[in-house]
Amino acid sequence: MVGRISLYFFILFFALVYNDLILENLSTTKYIFVTGGVASSLGKGIIASSLAKLLQARGYKVTIQKLDPYINVDPGTLNPYEHGECYVTEDGAETDLDLGHYERFLNSPTSQANNVTTGRIYQSVINKERRGDFLGKTVQIIPHITDEIKRYIKVLGSKKKFDVVISEIGGTVGDIESLPYIEAVRQMKWELGSDALIIHLTLVPFLSASGELKTKPTQHSVKQLLENGVQPDVLVLRTEHQLTPDLKGKVALFCNVSKDAVIESIDVSTIYEVPIRMKEEKLDVIVLKKLGLPLGEEPDLASWNDFLHRYKYPKKEVKVALIGKYVELRDAYKSIAEALIHAGAANECRVKVEWIHSEKINEENVERKLKGCEGIIIAPGFGHRGIEGKITAARYARELKIPYFGICLGMQIAVIEFARNILGLQGADSTEMNQLTKFPVIDLMDEQKDIIDKGGTMRLGSYLCNLKKDSKSYAAYGKTKISERHRHRYEFNNKYLESFEKAGMRAVGYNPDTDLVEVMEIPSHPWYIGVQFHPEYSSTVLQPHPLFVAFIAAVIENSKNHSN
Ligand code: GLN
Repeated sequence: MVGRISLYFFILFFALVYNDLILENLSTTKYIFVTGGVASSLGKGIIASSLAKLLQARGYKVTIQKLDPYINVDPGTLNPYEHGECYVTEDGAETDLDLGHYERFLNSPTSQANNVTTGRIYQSVINKERRGDFLGKTVQIIPHITDEIKRYIKVLGSKKKFDVVISEIGGTVGDIESLPYIEAVRQMKWELGSDALIIHLTLVPFLSASGELKTKPTQHSVKQLLENGVQPDVLVLRTEHQLTPDLKGKVALFCNVSKDAVIESIDVSTIYEVPIRMKEEKLDVIVLKKLGLPLGEEPDLASWNDFLHRYKYPKKEVKVALIGKYVELRDAYKSIAEALIHAGAANECRVKVEWIHSEKINEENVERKLKGCEGIIIAPGFGHRGIEGKITAARYARELKIPYFGICLGMQIAVIEFARNILGLQGADSTEMNQLTKFPVIDLMDEQKDIIDKGGTMRLGSYLCNLKKDSKSYAAYGKTKISERHRHRYEFNNKYLESFEKAGMRAVGYNPDTDLVEVMEIPSHPWYIGVQFHPEYSSTVLQPHPLFVAFIAAVIENSKNHSN
């Protein structure tokens, strides 16, 4: 009897740990490559993030990497009009905005290793050449550049930190710039066999004149890949209309891909629905089977679905003005827009964003421009363009007691406005905008004074901040010790701190090591907060950022007053 019971327990125990054992003992890291064809902006980052999310929900440790084919060493020196927002990681890397999606979906931090550009690859190869590492060899794209690309990919798989590494290749197949990457993928597939897998994302356009979906562009784009020696294993087809089994079959036949590996990705109202759609399409199951991996646990997406429900069926709606100088290109403020979605859902509220160009605001029209906006955000930025419009908006928010959230430059603007209009310091400014100002209330940080190079030289990445307990920021975070990401050169000038505090604007957050002011508040205002850091970078679907959540709660409160 006892023997039978222990046998029973042994089997039960074995069944329970079997899955984990397999997952833990995976002999090698698996590599998935995501390429794009037909058109850019099809959402490779969202497909990569959705797949990663599903694999993570099945118990795998996954990370995603973006390989960008441009020559800039990083996007830090790029104008946001060129490439959208520059996303900053905890370790201070200035990266592509897709890394923001990776973090928002996976709820885990990325790092410098997750974003590599052609510039960085060449820089590293040229440094090696100068050191003499190549022992007299002619340095060439193949093998030296492709080896370096492979090294940057494999680095994420080393030390078994991740079971699966997904590398997204920027640009579109056929671009001259992305050829070395496609070649590196070909080589890795050749070396790794079934430990590597290629997903190709393309577009199936709908011709409204004939009412037909067309597969030819997909066929051509796969041919292009084949010419480069790469056979995709899975095809994800972006489409406005449902694909018939016949159409999928046709694509499979022409592209040498099994029929079940032709996946439909139909347009949806929010990017956060894509993981759900990909699960329905069994993208995760197909990928795991092809990689020879066990399916793991059935993904539990309850909290994800809960977020989606709150997002799609809000109980109220508020309007928030987002004031910046790049508003024509919304990608320039991607993380802020996403953080507002997360915070809105947390408050069961739809946040309608009114994108307002800072250059178009002046004393005469500010009331008209901001009419109906129940909250105001002043976005980060560099240089003097649009500054006066932002200062005018900050004054409007302060005087009319409208919730104000100033992010990085937005905090500096709040300080300049307060100095000019409350402290009476006429012409107060940041030395970034006016080097000769009599009242430099925002000034260059000491460690920045001798820096000439622009690339990668700001105060970047996560720094600690201590919050005062009697502040609204503390009320939002519920703790005194926080850590947030930065990207700036200028700081609040502590020489003026006493006059600010006496007049009603307080520094409630500061760096414990340097005393740099990190958070400014006006306690007599319902919600007026400026932060030197970028809270938007760390807001995720499952962990909306506390300051954004508190801001939206304040905006809702303000909207109630308005409707009374
Ligand atoms: N231009 C300001 C600085 O460098 C603010 C930067 C930002 O908003 N990210 O300090």
